[in-house]
Amino acid sequence: MTNRDVDAVIVGAGFSGLYATHRLRNVQGLTVQCFEAGEGPGGVWYWNKYPGARCDFESIYYSYTFDEALQREWRWTERFAAQPEILAYLNHVADRFDLRRSFRFNTRVTSAVWNEETNRWTVRSDDGSVTTARFFINAAGAFSVFKKNDFPGQDDFHGTVLHTSQWPAEGVDLTGKRVAVIGTGSTGIQVIQTIAPQVGELTVFQRTPNFACPLGNRPLTDEDFAQAVADFSRNRQESRNSIAGAPYPRAVRSALMDTPEERRKVYDEFYNGGGFRMITSSYYDLIFNPVANATAADFIREQIRERVHDPKLAELLCPNDHPYGVKRATFEINYFEAFNLPHVHLVDARTTPIVRITEKGIATTDHEYEFDVIVLATGFDVGAGALARMGVIGRGGRKLTDHWAHGQRAYLGMATHGFPNLFHINGPQSAAALFNNPLAIEDSVDFVGDLIGYLDSHGHTAAEVTDLAEDRYNELVREVADATLFPTATTWYMGDNIPGKPRTPLSLFTGAPMYRAICAEVETTGYAGFSFDGENRPLSSLIKLDGSAVFFLAGLQNMGAKPLEDCTLEEARAAMESFKLMQLPVADDVSIVDARYPIDGGHRKVRLYRPPIEGPLPVVVFYHGGGWIGGSLDLYDEPCATLARRVGAVVVSPDYRLAPEHPFPAATDDAVAAVRWAADHITEFGGDPERIAVAGESAGANLAAVVALRLRDEGGPQLRAQVLITPPVDFLADTESRRQFPHGPIISMELAMRMASLYLGDPANAVSPHASPARAEDLSGLPSALVVTMEIDPTRDEAENYAQALATAGVPTVCRRIDRLCHTAFELSGAIPRAAEIHTAIAEFLTPLLSAQRAATEPALG
Ligand code: NAP
Repeated sequence: MTNRDVDAVIVGAGFSGLYATHRLRNVQGLTVQCFEAGEGPGGVWYWNKYPGARCDFESIYYSYTFDEALQREWRWTERFAAQPEILAYLNHVADRFDLRRSFRFNTRVTSAVWNEETNRWTVRSDDGSVTTARFFINAAGAFSVFKKNDFPGQDDFHGTVLHTSQWPAEGVDLTGKRVAVIGTGSTGIQVIQTIAPQVGELTVFQRTPNFACPLGNRPLTDEDFAQAVADFSRNRQESRNSIAGAPYPRAVRSALMDTPEERRKVYDEFYNGGGFRMITSSYYDLIFNPVANATAADFIREQIRERVHDPKLAELLCPNDHPYGVKRATFEINYFEAFNLPHVHLVDARTTPIVRITEKGIATTDHEYEFDVIVLATGFDVGAGALARMGVIGRGGRKLTDHWAHGQRAYLGMATHGFPNLFHINGPQSAAALFNNPLAIEDSVDFVGDLIGYLDSHGHTAAEVTDLAEDRYNELVREVADATLFPTATTWYMGDNIPGKPRTPLSLFTGAPMYRAICAEVETTGYAGFSFDGENRPLSSLIKLDGSAVFFLAGLQNMGAKPLEDCTLEEARAAMESFKLMQLPVADDVSIVDARYPIDGGHRKVRLYRPPIEGPLPVVVFYHGGGWIGGSLDLYDEPCATLARRVGAVVVSPDYRLAPEHPFPAATDDAVAAVRWAADHITEFGGDPERIAVAGESAGANLAAVVALRLRDEGGPQLRAQVLITPPVDFLADTESRRQFPHGPIISMELAMRMASLYLGDPANAVSPHASPARAEDLSGLPSALVVTMEIDPTRDEAENYAQALATAGVPTVCRRIDRLCHTAFELSGAIPRAAEIHTAIAEFLTPLLSAQRAATEPALG
């Protein structure tokens, strides 16, 4: 076999390998050598020829989008195509783009070693050839290594044992046979429902029942096809920007917002709508809220009970040990009805586990069953199982298997530290597990193709993810998983299905849009997190951001929420109010009363929060955020009640006038009036007028800072402290954090500028210290200050500069930067658990300053 030197070696001829070959060879003009163990193209669709194998994404979506003509000319015959049709499609793609000539089929890669002197991979294969290449592309797929040797005694069996992924191409005649199927995942369900009518006796060994929902398959009509072709561009765009990569309706409501009757209607529609709709389109909180999830789980169990005649059998088929949707969703066509057939039996392999395979059949802990054929539908070593077996050795002689000893991980699912120029197409920790695969593959291949282009255009030899980036991404994947219910079930998503495999999330559970946003940010920031010939690029913001915040932002994207900067004023106000859904419940032992305070020409509402503590209590006047144009007392009930409990103070939350209806200085006048009212009236509410602090978040923090200045200059009342959480303090600031985080998250510079202009009215107001307190000439004599900033926030640096200026002016000042959080975290306590750190910082700061023992004039902090 001839040896070759090429630009790239590609392993695998499935959806990934075929597109990678097309993109790198046909589009980018690289030389490639591709290897495939099968005798032709197809990948997972080549190997999985078992009866009933079929796609569970609609084929008009589960197909390539890179070539419009291809999409138009391939006429799918069914809504959810069966394996032979998908295999034919992939063969067609291989021919249409002349890809076969780059492949060596029937050939396995046996080793791949990085040569540090030549900066090339040396790839050996079982045909004896040696190929050297600059890039090594792992397109072997996540399901290429099937689970073997689960049961002892397999060789003793006198009948036939078949794993579903090794099904003979010529098929197996099961007519009249006694058949066992072990496993009831996606594969087992498809096999069982398909062979049930043919076989003599069918015995299903079920360890974990699944929440299988109807697939909804039917022939694809000419009308369906014409519609798909007409909507091709829109579908492509919408698919990529929706949670699972298909243009299904978006879930925009919580399951807990609806009555049971309303929920039933929603579930009926999406359960019967087919495919992934039940999980993607019903309610957005099913994958993270156990109470919401239980409503869907109950609904599906009801369907199972209705469809299976024998109530005992129905109960056995009802999943009870995990939430719905956190094991890979499964789909069925008359699966449950198969169990109504007299010759179909179910063995509960959880209470009576399989002990071994015997000469005659299967022995469980309480019985030996006799069979002619045993079908193993027991799954795969999911992830980069195939690559782990290829003997991959990277820099410094490090084995990939050693690198992954504590769990498979890859930056963006594509790159591994210590293995330069090795790129995985949707490797471990990509988002592909929840993302329509052909689209996920195109995205991943395009990213790698672009990265290779970048290397060449910038004169670099090799790209490698930094240690730091790989670690942080791995941590992010775990944090996101922890924000969901996925870790509560034993699944291949978490690596649980292989005994001894370290438990680690093998997927980023954000849905496709956030994963794509992360990759896009990495790319547009010059491949953040990569090292080019030893030159390290810093991490990008979304990768640094706390996983719970990333998951929250992903939720907004999955719902199709408009960025605030694209909203009308009314939409922006409503969007801000909706953040209330993401808060912890309001502490119920805090009493809440409304009162009124006078402002120029009228009154406004003020809300008081009093914890269950003997008074008189110190007082914190708190101004809500909302960019001076939005926010409300209701939205801040939870943060204010929590603040009251944590500090042991009466919190006074005034409803101040908003712009643009009431531009500057209306809000600041109200903010000052509220403190004056509190000083005069707080004893009626159990507060001590001698111990008042002001506090606020975001625009509210700006007001608090302005109030501190004005009360100093306008004769009091005297304040003991000011707490400024993420305060914008200078409308004209030109800071590094503004440049670093122009897109936020949540507050982009575009939005900040728009809100500022509505608030300021006349742009000349920007220089007023009562709008931009950082522009005050004299900051001395102000009350002690706590400035809390978030690491990933455009307002960070102006706030920290202000803290520095206060300290320089002699004001006792504490500045706390909370790492990896973003603007508005304070009001998202339910979504972002680390928001509690802000309350801790405030309580630590205010408690001594507001204590009854301390005189108001005593300096608090050195
Ligand atoms: P799987 O989801 O891992 O299911 C394996 C099944 O075998 C489970 O029911 C498992 O039970 C059972 N099992 C494993 N070891 C066992 C043992 N020792 N004793 C008893 N039962 C045992 O594998 P899969 O069904 O092949 O599906 C793998 C993935 O392939 C799917 O999740 C999906 O992503 C993909 N797939 C897709 C389609 C499609 O329509 N597009 C079709 C098939 C597969 P436990 O649950 O208790 O572990």
